[in-house]
Amino acid sequence: MQIREGLHLFQWNNPAENNCNTYFLSGKRKVLIDPGHFALFGHVAKGLELLRLEPKDVDLVLVTHFHPDHMEAIKRFKERTFFAIYREEYHFLKEVLEERDEAFETNFHILLKEGSLKVGGIQLEIIHTPGHSPGHMCIYWPRHKALFSGDLLFLNGIGRTDLIGGDPEALKESLGRLEDLEVEILLPGHGLPVIGKEECIRNLKWAKETLYMYL
Ligand SMILES: [Zn+2]
Repeated sequence: MQIREGLHLFQWNNPAENNCNTYFLSGKRKVLIDPGHFALFGHVAKGLELLRLEPKDVDLVLVTHFHPDHMEAIKRFKERTFFAIYREEYHFLKEVLEERDEAFETNFHILLKEGSLKVGGIQLEIIHTPGHSPGHMCIYWPRHKALFSGDLLFLNGIGRTDLIGGDPEALKESLGRLEDLEVEILLPGHGLPVIGKEECIRNLKWAKETLYMYL
């Protein structure tokens, strides 16, 4: 589904399986946000195919956080694609795997920190938003006033904080940081997008009020 020029959503809407929404940003360079589970990658490949593209055409994959339903499918991409994750998330993932005595197979080329990220003509802002996981990041695209919120904020929902590395106080602070952004399109990791400035403000306000009730 094309949301704006150069901004596509490969929406996941199978309630029987857990996978994330994938976003595709198309310019001189091709960027994919959160490719999802390895075994469920078919729907991303199909979305690309409809645009007459293949996974090998993707230049950069950004993952909002380390959970398998967002990240696992990076193994589907070939050598020419770069992978990027927030610096703290990378170190946390490494620690978790070492504790479990599992091999660290994921090869990230870029460890991100806060600030601008320019990919071809696509200018993005990286925002560290811990709470759901320690190095969770949101990605803001000023061109469309679009926020890719990962598992921080959904339509009528917020991310879980009961998983490893979760922190409700940090999530609350991260939601607070979003107030400074002008968002007209909220693109969450799961569920439907929120379109329209007023709707985005209402959704964030609701999320914060709901969270305060549980803290
Ligand atoms: Zn998650």
